Amino acid sequence: MIHPESAPEAAATAHEIRNEFVLQAEGEVVLRDPATVNQNIATGEIEITVDTLRIVSRSTPLPFQLDEENVDETIRLRYRWLDLRTERMQRNLRLSHTIIAAIRRRMDELGFVDLWTPSMTKGTPEGARDFLVPVRLQPGRFFALAQSPQLFKQLSQIGGLDRYYQIATCWRDEDLRADRQFEFRQLDVEMSFVEREDVLDVLERAVVASFEALGREPPARPFTRVSWHEADLRYGSDKPDLRFGLEIRDATEVTRGSQFGVFANAPAVRFLVAPRAFSRAELARLEGIAKEWGAKGLAYLVRDESGEVRSPIAKFLSEQELAAFASDPGTTVLFAADEPRTVSRVLGGLRTHLGRELDLADTTRDAFLWILDFPLFELDEETGRWTFVHHPFTGVKPGQEHLVEADPGACISQAYDLVWNGIELGSGSIRIHDQELQRAVFRSMGMGEEEARAKFGFLLEALEMGAPPHGGFAMGIERFVMLMAGEPDIRQILAFPKVASGSDPLTGAPTPYPAAALKELGIQSIVPSDQA
Ligand code: ASP
Repeated sequence: MIHPESAPEAAATAHEIRNEFVLQAEGEVVLRDPATVNQNIATGEIEITVDTLRIVSRSTPLPFQLDEENVDETIRLRYRWLDLRTERMQRNLRLSHTIIAAIRRRMDELGFVDLWTPSMTKGTPEGARDFLVPVRLQPGRFFALAQSPQLFKQLSQIGGLDRYYQIATCWRDEDLRADRQFEFRQLDVEMSFVEREDVLDVLERAVVASFEALGREPPARPFTRVSWHEADLRYGSDKPDLRFGLEIRDATEVTRGSQFGVFANAPAVRFLVAPRAFSRAELARLEGIAKEWGAKGLAYLVRDESGEVRSPIAKFLSEQELAAFASDPGTTVLFAADEPRTVSRVLGGLRTHLGRELDLADTTRDAFLWILDFPLFELDEETGRWTFVHHPFTGVKPGQEHLVEADPGACISQAYDLVWNGIELGSGSIRIHDQELQRAVFRSMGMGEEEARAKFGFLLEALEMGAPPHGGFAMGIERFVMLMAGEPDIRQILAFPKVASGSDPLTGAPTPYPAAALKELGIQSIVPSDQA
């Protein structure tokens, strides 16, 4: 508050003030007149009766106003230093700090050692492409940026550091999405002489600590546990949102010998009952979605409010079948009939879609869920070879070691995922600590002895020198913070994120480098300079 009569100079200076100027004022801090108290701001009860006023720093006209809504995101990121001043970004970055600090405290309390591992290393197989770093001292050779500290954390266990953790930065060259950046952080954990439950317990405690630090009701422990197989059958997904039911049911048995050939001939027939009698137009749209997930069509039975059944296939179905598909008035039974994998994918996709479209989730709940017992291998459709589902260091269910080479597809792994409200937060496993078994896994993936030695010789050697049983986990920090902040994408909780094209609007990176600089690294660009 400047009174021109008592502070004429300050009043004159005040005329120059524009948005986002930095000011220094001296004067008396006084209570505001009750009529001017503003409860909406932290300093709303006081003001300064200014004696002297100085403009410390000026601002050019702003590219956007801080209280403006729907500012184009590229502009926000281009001028991120301004955007960071908004209430939203201030809240999100502080929330992120609170969570990370709470996790660090909890890990410390639990006796974990924060160990830093190299970013520049050798390719780590986490299923993405590597970012490469050329090395001036060794032209033609490259480091890979760590996709995760996986092998270092395992080696730390062989090194006797029986409780490792790190808020580790990981680099993965993948297409950017709402919940994915090239570089991200994980709460990365590894422990020795543990069983699965020990690892899950630590992660649950870290999650609960984060809720508590934010003053929120933490999810009840232990979190729900569901096997991968069961999740696949009941939800058609390895990351189901359990805030709503809409469970998939099996109809394979009851449709054997059906008059409806599509059912009779399909290896698997399953259905879900949507709580709504869909119109023809809605069903056509759902069919389109089912087809995107790989269905050839979408069979249905609509039971309208009066209980009447509307369906082109009803006339082919036996009484027994109709009884199995009986549903309440005002519902629709949606079927998928195909290979089990396709059926899961289609119904899982429809379940997720309907959950969102019909607003089925109870948003007052937090559904944390562990998915256990993933398969160890899956068939790579491109190469026709077995490949890992998690990573090749994941242990096999005890007693199934002999199946690793004899019947890879039948092997159940010791891997587990953590899911929150339908979003995967992270994964981990009990590892292989026996070098023979590790070699067998490599062989099953078609990796010869020589290749295994070239890529992972150091691990195999370490496993030969007294490796303790060990296991761990990694949880995506940004995804976790994003969900805690109720934000739709992780750019809103990162100070300086990149946009979908993979660039940083603020610095303009990535940029081309002069040929001379590349030459020094033993690199020649094949991209024409006008296209780089
Ligand atoms: N390295 C794994 C990942 O980044 C996590 C783990 O297995 O601990 O997903």
